Amino acid sequence: MDSYPTGQYARSCRGAGAALQNTASNRINFVRPSRKPSPRAVYRLAESQRVNESSSLAQRFPKLKTLKVVLDYFDASGVTRTGGMTFKPNLEHAKSVFRFNCVNGDCVGGDYDLSGELSQAIASRRKSLTGELRCQGVRHNKEIDERAPCQSILRYKLSLGY
Ligand SMILES: [Zn+2]
Repeated sequence: MDSYPTGQYARSCRGAGAALQNTASNRINFVRPSRKPSPRAVYRLAESQRVNESSSLAQRFPKLKTLKVVLDYFDASGVTRTGGMTFKPNLEHAKSVFRFNCVNGDCVGGDYDLSGELSQAIASRRKSLTGELRCQGVRHNKEIDERAPCQSILRYKLSLGY
């Protein structure tokens, strides 16, 4: 819109002015800076502290030599895939609090913690582990001021070498 010659813009958009103004003022409400950090930011900060303070995978599980992680994110129905990744964490650097963020942008207090599953798999020397976790967070929809259980799904596959 900035590149429109002013005259032409005014002529073609007369009548749309009111609607435009409305949208703009709504948008200002949404982004009004709040002094308090969002519940999501507070939760994620606490979680990242918990991760950082945990020992590395190599320290915690000296017998584990390789780890490959395949993650697939699905919505709550389990039908629509919303993302995923495959990676091999560096065991010296990756932390033993083994968690992954929920991909829902408005989810608070959930995410996926595979620490227990990983620990059990290593204790019983399993070479692979597949499973599914549901996010127990709450989605805060700011636009309609509604809160709903997240329930998004993470399907994971861990391949472990000793
Ligand atoms: Zn979630």
